[in-house]
Amino acid sequence: MELTRVVALAGGVGGAKMAVGLQAAVPPGALTVIVNTGDDFEHWGLTICPDLDTVLYNLAGVHNPETGWGRDQESFRLLEAMGKLGGEDWFRLGDQDLALHLRRSEWLQQGARLSEITDRLRRALGVPSLVLPMSDEPVRTLVHTDEGDLPFQHYFVRLRCEPMVMDLSFVGAESARVPEAVAKALHNADLIVFCPSNPYLSIDPILSVPGMRRLLQEAPAPKVAVSPIVGGTAIKGPAAKMMRELGQMVSPLTVMDHFDELLDGFILDSADAEIAGAVQVPTLVTETLMTDLASKTKLAQEILTFAGQLAETRNTFSRPGRRPT
Ligand code: GDP
Repeated sequence: MELTRVVALAGGVGGAKMAVGLQAAVPPGALTVIVNTGDDFEHWGLTICPDLDTVLYNLAGVHNPETGWGRDQESFRLLEAMGKLGGEDWFRLGDQDLALHLRRSEWLQQGARLSEITDRLRRALGVPSLVLPMSDEPVRTLVHTDEGDLPFQHYFVRLRCEPMVMDLSFVGAESARVPEAVAKALHNADLIVFCPSNPYLSIDPILSVPGMRRLLQEAPAPKVAVSPIVGGTAIKGPAAKMMRELGQMVSPLTVMDHFDELLDGFILDSADAEIAGAVQVPTLVTETLMTDLASKTKLAQEILTFAGQLAETRNTFSRPGRRPT
């Protein structure tokens, strides 16, 4: 069964890598990426949307391949000058990157919606896939830690995820709305992929937008998640550290349980093959490390084949896609 309209839920670096693979594996325009905006913040008077930008830069092929975020062939002259003036320089904004933040902030000030602005930016960058923020209204992740409540970028960048996480809240989520284009994409999707993004920091904010869970539950497409936990740890970032701090086992099973009722299938790395039997939904065991375009595309193609099989068999069981217990 051919699955062409694919929707991906994504955070930054892990999400963007998966999105690149999916974009390469489906016809141009067939992928829609719904992106976390809980990491967004105001800095130097500008609105910065790190995950949206990471996804856009990766899909456009202009990202920094070393870091996974920011632009390639970037310079930081403005940042240096800012530091010399006593300005905040802990968040590394490059010179080319800054052009995007200026453009977005200008459009926001003129009253444009974030989804409209993101679409203008993706067109300007030549990205064939649709890229949509999880909502047009601001939602800001607040990290409750042993050092107090920290706005997300202060926890993540300034303090390098060192404080112990006790809880998270998504400030503004209660008055946020799912953009019309997001609802439409979910409804029309042939496949919905939860990218291997941080479940707490990248996917949960998306799910916190009122109505998003229901749209996912009601979407007829199979929903699958790729584990960001591989061989007992995270490839990058604080996902494993946070799991420990939140009293959870550092395991793909924790990710699976976290999204439990939303998923019809799970993608597990070969390094974790031994736990495949413990996953409660049909599971694809494969290499999930995405190091280059070939490995990203291969994983995406395998997911499409796996999901195609799920879509064909999903009516066999009383609960779609789920193994009988
Ligand atoms: P952030 O917003 O930049 O932190 O990025 P995400 O939340 O989208 O992604 C972070 C997660 O991606 C981490 O938990 C990593 O373990 C995971 N990740 C990064 N690269 C890979 C990869 O190649 N394969 C898999 N399976 N997970 C990855």
